[in-house]
Amino acid sequence: MGVPWEFESCLKASIDAAYRTERFARWLFPLAEIDLQIMFFDTHAHLTWPDFDSDIDGVIERATAAGITRMVTIGTDAESSRRAVELAGRFPNVYAAIGWHPGDVDEAPDDVRPTLRELAGAPRVVAIGETGLDYYRLPSTRGGSVEDDEPYRSRQKHLFRQQLELAVEFKKNVVIHTRGDCFEDTISIFENYADRLRAVFHCFVESVANMERIFTLGSLVSFTGILTFKNGQNVRDALMAAPLGKFMLETDSPFLAPVPYRGKRCEPAYVSLIAASAAEIKGCSLEELSSVTCEAARQFFGGLE
Ligand SMILES: [Zn+2]
Repeated sequence: MGVPWEFESCLKASIDAAYRTERFARWLFPLAEIDLQIMFFDTHAHLTWPDFDSDIDGVIERATAAGITRMVTIGTDAESSRRAVELAGRFPNVYAAIGWHPGDVDEAPDDVRPTLRELAGAPRVVAIGETGLDYYRLPSTRGGSVEDDEPYRSRQKHLFRQQLELAVEFKKNVVIHTRGDCFEDTISIFENYADRLRAVFHCFVESVANMERIFTLGSLVSFTGILTFKNGQNVRDALMAAPLGKFMLETDSPFLAPVPYRGKRCEPAYVSLIAASAAEIKGCSLEELSSVTCEAARQFFGGLE
C-alpha cells in the first residue's frame, strides 16, 4: 500500500515542480494554454484610443478568452475619461480611471477638477488618473524655446496637485505617469498626499532605489510588456526586487506590446505573455502570481470586484 502512495506523492511533487517552472510545464503539457489558464487583470489600458474603434468587442473577447478577467481603461483628458466611463458601463469586466495626462496639459483648462468631478463619482470609476509628470517631451524638444519649459513643468505640477486633491475628495487612489527626468518632482508632490491615498507608479522603469521609496509610502508599481524587451533588463531587475503583493500587471494598450508582438498594437489579452515573463523572473508559479497581482489590484482599485 505504501508504494502507490509514495509514487503518487512523488508524481505530485514532480507536477508541482513542473508547474513552478513555466517553460517545463509548457513542454510537459502542450495544451498548457487551455489546461493551465489562470486569471489576470489588465490594470492599465487605453481602450478608448482610436486604435480600438473598429474592433473593441473582439479585443474584449480575446482578453476574456486569454483569462484576463478585469481591465481598467484609463482616461487621459475630458473626452477619453468620459468615454472610459461609457465603456465601463458597456462591458461588465471593464472599469474606468478618469484623469488628465501630463502630456495633454496644453489642452487642459486651468482647473481640471470641475470636469473630472462630474465623472469621479460615476459607477465603476475605480481610480483617478492618469496624472503625474512628463519631462520627456518639453516644449524645447518639439520646436519651442527653453524658456517655455519651466512654465510647462509648473503647469503639469499644478494639474497633478489638482487631481491628487480630487482623489482625496472622492477617496480614490491615483494612477501616476512619470516620464523623463521627473521622478524627484513627482514623488515630492505625491508625498504630501501619501497619508490619505495610495498611488500606482505605472509602467515602472525607474531604479530599485526609487521603487523602495514608493513602497515606503505604501504605494505600488506596475509592469508592462517592457519586461519582455531585450533592452528591458533594468525593468526586470526592478521586478526581481519587488516583493509579491507590491506590484500589478498592465499592458498600457495600445502601446508597448510584449514580445513577440513588439511594435504592433498591444491589447489586454497580452497580459498573459507579460505574466508568463513575470512569473519566470520572479521564479514563482502562475497561480501564485495571479493571486498576488489580482489581490493587489482589488485592494488598490476600490470597487473592482
Ligand atoms: Zn497610460
